[in-house]
Amino acid sequence: MRSAKSLDDDVTDRQLRLFVGLVVVLAMFAAVVDATLPVRPRPGWPDALLLVAICGGTVFAHRLRVHVRVRSNGEAVAWAEVPVLVGLALAPVPWVVLAAVAGALIDKVLLRLPPRKVVFAVAKEVLTATAAGLVLIASGMDHAADRPHFNPIALTLAFGAMVIVDDLVFFPLMAIVQQAPIARVARMNLDVKIVGHVFRLATVLWVVAVLAYRGDPLLLLLVPLLIACVHLWHSRRVRTRVERESWQRLSRAIDALNVPDLTEVLHLASTRAAQIFSADDVEIDFADGTSDRVVRGVERGVTFDGPAPAASTPDGNLITAELQTTDGSYRAGELRLRFRDRVNFTEFEQYKLRTFASALCTAIRNAQAYAELARISTENAHAATHDPLTGLPNRRKLYERTSASIADGAGGGILALLLIDLNHFKEVNDTLGHAAGDAVLREVGRRLQDAAQPGDLVARLGGDEFAILLTGLPAPAMAAHRAESMLAQLDRTIEVDGMQLTVEAAGGIALAPGTGGVEELMRRADVAMYQAKRSGRRTATYAHARDTADLGRLMLGGELRRAVAEQQFVVDFQPIVDLGTGEVISAEALARWHHPQHGHLRPLDFLETVERSGQLAAFADAVLDQSLTASGAWREAGFDLPVAVNVSPRSLLDPQFPAAVLARLHNRAVPADRLVLELAETLTLSQLEVVERALSELRDAGVRLALDDFGSGVSSLSVLSRIPVHELKIDREFVLAVETSPEAAAVIRSTVDLARSLQLTVVAEGVESEPQRHALFRLGCVAGQGHLFARPMGAGRLLAALRRGSGGRPGVLAEALHETGAVVRLPRRRAHGRSSLPHLPA
Ligand code: C2E
Ligand code: CA
Ligand code: CA
Repeated sequence: MRSAKSLDDDVTDRQLRLFVGLVVVLAMFAAVVDATLPVRPRPGWPDALLLVAICGGTVFAHRLRVHVRVRSNGEAVAWAEVPVLVGLALAPVPWVVLAAVAGALIDKVLLRLPPRKVVFAVAKEVLTATAAGLVLIASGMDHAADRPHFNPIALTLAFGAMVIVDDLVFFPLMAIVQQAPIARVARMNLDVKIVGHVFRLATVLWVVAVLAYRGDPLLLLLVPLLIACVHLWHSRRVRTRVERESWQRLSRAIDALNVPDLTEVLHLASTRAAQIFSADDVEIDFADGTSDRVVRGVERGVTFDGPAPAASTPDGNLITAELQTTDGSYRAGELRLRFRDRVNFTEFEQYKLRTFASALCTAIRNAQAYAELARISTENAHAATHDPLTGLPNRRKLYERTSASIADGAGGGILALLLIDLNHFKEVNDTLGHAAGDAVLREVGRRLQDAAQPGDLVARLGGDEFAILLTGLPAPAMAAHRAESMLAQLDRTIEVDGMQLTVEAAGGIALAPGTGGVEELMRRADVAMYQAKRSGRRTATYAHARDTADLGRLMLGGELRRAVAEQQFVVDFQPIVDLGTGEVISAEALARWHHPQHGHLRPLDFLETVERSGQLAAFADAVLDQSLTASGAWREAGFDLPVAVNVSPRSLLDPQFPAAVLARLHNRAVPADRLVLELAETLTLSQLEVVERALSELRDAGVRLALDDFGSGVSSLSVLSRIPVHELKIDREFVLAVETSPEAAAVIRSTVDLARSLQLTVVAEGVESEPQRHALFRLGCVAGQGHLFARPMGAGRLLAALRRGSGGRPGVLAEALHETGAVVRLPRRRAHGRSSLPHLPA
């Protein structure tokens, strides 16, 4: 493919060739006419000398040029008419034509013009001289007379013919070269031309008159004087004009440099400099300390742009200028103008070059400042929409993309949102440190990103929550499939500091809702995610039918304050029983929410909301208060039972918590050892320092501590080594399997053994059947709670049950085991003993 530019050039070139050819043909025709003209020399005139004079005059006339610009060929002032016309007044036309042609030839050869231009100049000379000659012959000019005949009209006409032929030949040529309309070319410098014509005609008339009337030859000396004057005047005019034009061009170029793109600045500068300074090649060595780049250009375009070392240096004469701001505070490298020929810059040229260089330097600095600004603003835009830790888009970006996708129909397919929450991530953070936590989050982000498909958007919402926008799904069922495969990416262990960590996560999927937009989609995914968490599944898909309860769960947050104030939280109690005797030895407090709309809510339905809200302390206090009140009431009735209260992990992190508990004990006048705090084992790993301090404060005050759900977590033993508890509660899942699974039985037995060596008591949870009770007892576990003995119930009902008793024995809820004989009972030390629970079997 050739560019339009070069096609244009080809067209111009063809037109030029055609035109020059036409002129040459016409000139040859004129030459033939010349050859037929009579040659009758004037008697007594030294012919050869005359011809040499004409020839010399022509050369001289051609050489009279105005030199203003570097490498400019000058503005030729057509003084050539003078020697030709004077010659025609003195000598035969063919001779004059020959002499004029010789003069023009010599001039062009001296100028070292290319052959085509020489041919054109010669042809033009033939045509103009012939035209003038023919006009003079037509007006009766007689060369045979002994002295020239002064005919001003004929001379003026001949002069006019010369000018017209010259213009007819020259204007079209310029129009083709400059690709401008002929009329514009003709109008250029019209004033200068007309004045020039008048003076030249006057000169011709003067010379011919002096010769015709045999005037004093000294009078001819006026001619060089006149020429000098006109030439000076003309030079000044042209110089001023050219200077003005060049300043205009310079200022246009400087304006043009005012673009924000550095490359554009450098490219423009190189080509414009070539044009303004008529340099053969312009090189910008852009080296501002941060980069080293060379851009090279000629008038028609950029020829090189690349690293400085790759730039080969063409030969030539160099004129250079530092690229620096006028105050010299900033330097951007060097501007080099290269010329094939030797050039000397005038002061004016040098000044222009310095101006250009400093403007270029400013433009470069502006472009760089602009680029820097643009970079900062994209960086800010990126920071505003991305998570700095993982580099993933953030919540804002997810919202933007999701609403856009919902708005334009998800590109034809189905749109779904997958919300992922890591389970127990806090533990990683708390036990291994934030650096490890960050490493895990980064790896999770990476894996999710790797598993994403084109069109998906993986975002980190904050903390351990991630979300993936799935677009263009072919069917709704695909969402669950994709979600499963994304979560499966987290199955592989993550290595942090040489440790292999397993990450569990729950994912909630929601399909784009008909109404409600992003917010509703997020809410649904959130609901589904909690359903997955609660049910212990990896993923769950949002279903409207299951939403009401969850909607309630989410709304509960706002109602909590009222719930606490209006005492909607109540506490049920489940007795803990001596497995051997069936005697009640204590009771566990279990919170309930009598919700005005949702009815009787169990802790799993609202605990999370309470923990997340600011109402946890108030809630825990309400439960503790009711528990101690109940315990006091039982004691008054003769049943001195300690009460076990569940403590939310988060409560332990509250620095006020120990003091609040001790204050309640004090208010209710309950001895500290009548309170057991049940700690969820999952948390006790977290924030061990804080928790340890809180717990030792409580323990030192006499409060008893129990580790809930013991055995269900992996870290049970390590927790035990750091937290000085009095009691272990065996998790329901082991009790459930105690008869069928040897492993469950082994866990229970080793827990009992461990407890014995640490002098701790053990309580089994969820005892539902007599065989379980027997099995537990045989394994050495002597205390338990569960539906077998009693379901949780109100404090009053429990008291009634205690009074009623079993088999006529108050305070006993079940028949004694027949195997009790196998157990060596130690005397109970109620008042001042370490434990109010039965001691371990020996
Ligand atoms: P948990 O501490 O393991 O409490 C025992 C749970 O097992 C209670 O469920 C209880 O009703 C249930 N349960 C008792 N016997 C049996 C049985 O024989 N079979 C079966 N399948 N279940 C039995 P609930 O009341 O729903 O409490 C659930 C969890 O909520 C509790 O687990 C405890 O961790 C937490 N919780 C309860 N009350 C409070 C409270 O006041 N504060 C805090 N922070 N957490 C509480
Ligand atoms: Ca408990
Ligand atoms: Ca439990």
